[in-house]
Amino acid sequence: METKTGKIKFMACTVGISFILLLKKSFCYSIFTKMNEVEKVVIVGSGCAGLTAAIYTSRAALLPLVIGGPQPGGQLTMTNEVENFPGFPNGINGFELMANMRLQAEHFGTRFVDDEVKDVDFGKGMKKIICERNTYLSQTVIVATGASPKLLGVKGEKEFFGGKGVSICATCDGAFYRGKDVAVVGGGDTACEEALFLTNFCAKVYLIHRRDTLRASKPMEKRTLANGKIIPLWDSIVDEIIGPEKVSGIRVENVKNKSKTEIACSGVFIAIGHTPNSQQFAKYLHLDDDGYFHRKEDSFVETNVGGVFVAGDCADKTYRQAITSAGTGAMAAILAEKYICKKI
Ligand code: NDP
Repeated sequence: METKTGKIKFMACTVGISFILLLKKSFCYSIFTKMNEVEKVVIVGSGCAGLTAAIYTSRAALLPLVIGGPQPGGQLTMTNEVENFPGFPNGINGFELMANMRLQAEHFGTRFVDDEVKDVDFGKGMKKIICERNTYLSQTVIVATGASPKLLGVKGEKEFFGGKGVSICATCDGAFYRGKDVAVVGGGDTACEEALFLTNFCAKVYLIHRRDTLRASKPMEKRTLANGKIIPLWDSIVDEIIGPEKVSGIRVENVKNKSKTEIACSGVFIAIGHTPNSQQFAKYLHLDDDGYFHRKEDSFVETNVGGVFVAGDCADKTYRQAITSAGTGAMAAILAEKYICKKI
């Protein structure tokens, strides 16, 4: 009897401790916010740009708060191996890189909350970030919400994504396809750039475009079509990405005559555009025609609202690299500190 009671007490204790540990982060945060209701820096997004901004602002003793967003760690967490981030001669797994950045940010005192921005108020006074769970007030905000690659939505795309043959970044993954045949889907500047880059490694690069003229700029079009390794398949859409274990080919449909052809290839690079994650901020921050944040002239990170900075892919449609995102994250952090000290 005594043993049974002891066991029950032990189990109740274990469940209680687990529950407390589970709640610890949000509990600590709510106590903290009561003591310190206006943050110095709130960083929205926990990808490469957001975490770099967090490392810089926490090192500057600004005690930043990072709102993790819907994809903690950002796009890099979907990348298998990152070979071009300086400092890793043997490459590093994308997930590991982001986990390390987070640890580095935490080491200097960055706090993280799992929340999602629904609306903001960047009018007069403190900046207000209205999220699903909480509303946060801050002197400065660094928006590093990234951009989401558009996907095709065809069979095999999700199944072979990240390491099994479907990629959204030739610069990141192209070198894994040395000597192999690959396909690039899209007809814009990104698709052409990806296709041209892949010719450095691959035997053949099929460029699959749904119309019979490219959307890419004329010089890009000229270079692409002049490259003997690139084989354009006009008026074509991908119907299915074929496996079974990893990509072995694609089935392509001609939109004019409806014929279907199977093409053998080891990789499929999807380059049909990105959607910047900017809409929740559009009431206050200027966007360009494609929805990317518009930055002040001569600045990489300053917006039309004083004290609100942007970093990473949400404001960059040209470079979109981990290292350039980290760079703008650092710039935003430095300027946020200056803004707080009233130096800008
Ligand atoms: P774009 O929107 O310019 O091009 C997307 C391409 O994908 C289009 O050809 C489009 O076809 C095609 N597409 C879209 N949806 C689908 C779908 N569901 N199925 C099949 N095909 C689809 O995006 P980019 O990323 O290429 O470029 C974005 C911006 O960045 C542009 O302004 C570009 O000029 C710029 N950029 C500049 C670079 C440079 O200057 N070096 C490099 C990269 C980008 P369709 O043509 O029929 O609409």
